[in-house]
Amino acid sequence: MIEISNLVKNYGSKFAVDDISFKVGKGEIVGFLGPNGAGKSTTMNILTGYLSSTSGTAKVGGIDILENPYEAKKLIGFLPEQPPVYPDMTVNEYLNFVYEIKRCKLHREKHLAEIRQVTKIEDVKTRLIKNLSKGYRQRVGIAQALVGNPPIIIFDEPTVGLDPKQIIEIRNLIRNLGQTHTVILSTHILTEVQAVCDRIIIINEGKIIADERTENITKVVEENRRYSVKICGPQRDVLSAIREIPGVVYAEITGERELDSYTFHVEAEKGLDIRKPLFHAMSQRNWPIIGLEPIGMNLEEVFVKIMDADLARKKA
Ligand code: ADP
Ligand code: MG
Repeated sequence: MIEISNLVKNYGSKFAVDDISFKVGKGEIVGFLGPNGAGKSTTMNILTGYLSSTSGTAKVGGIDILENPYEAKKLIGFLPEQPPVYPDMTVNEYLNFVYEIKRCKLHREKHLAEIRQVTKIEDVKTRLIKNLSKGYRQRVGIAQALVGNPPIIIFDEPTVGLDPKQIIEIRNLIRNLGQTHTVILSTHILTEVQAVCDRIIIINEGKIIADERTENITKVVEENRRYSVKICGPQRDVLSAIREIPGVVYAEITGERELDSYTFHVEAEKGLDIRKPLFHAMSQRNWPIIGLEPIGMNLEEVFVKIMDADLARKKA
């Protein structure tokens, strides 16, 4: 459905996208994950014909977006990072306007009603867009992408700026769309792609550093064995006792203190659950553990892990 080959985009000496290639098959939901400035929007804007590339090609349904933008664009519904919503139109006026410019041939009333239903904007159809909440505006942005029923949906950071409830709703909506469409969405949030996508492409500094099934990335991330532990006891002695536990590869005092408890960060060697040995070691000395929670990895750490795993695999 989508084929990007050796795509490059540079601004002067800065490479926003630096030789990216990937394919997306029919019906896949692919997450494009990377920190801010990674090159996600640039790639998506090229793929959707909003931006030209310096070199390389982007094909949609076998059609080169540069050579035949009109035909290629018909296959794509796009929600850009800044959705092009017209504040002084009502939702209905706007969707009709999009219907016109896309020269949509589907039954107008029926088609637009279906889209309003799927995106749950029926109750605001006569409201001015400028009076809508951010969550509703985002849904109107998604609605315009669905006009013409394109087989490919591309969303650039669809949940940015939404509250947690709206995020869940939009994610569900995207997952549902994924049952009948090919979907690419970009995000800088790992849990978002884990929640929604079958496959994750990780991009950093304009380069793809991983392209994996979601479960493989999740496996790498779950190998994380770091905990933040709150223990009541003499700080220095507790630290030495933790360090004596077999399998502990790292332990440090965080400086956090609450009444008579101190917080420590503890990391165990790979494949070992340190929680039980930690409990026994502390209970032997009568130092209660009053809190224990895993420390999640941030995106940078995930990158490092994935690159390590990738290197290890290449060596094997
Ligand atoms: P992302 O969407 O992953 O946050 P972008 O694709 O927006 O990243 O940007 C990638 C890099 O290209 C960034 O370093 C950004 O500053 C740079 N960039 C994007 N657009 C322009 C532009 N019009 N002029 C110069 N640099 C740009
Ligand atoms: Mg972006």
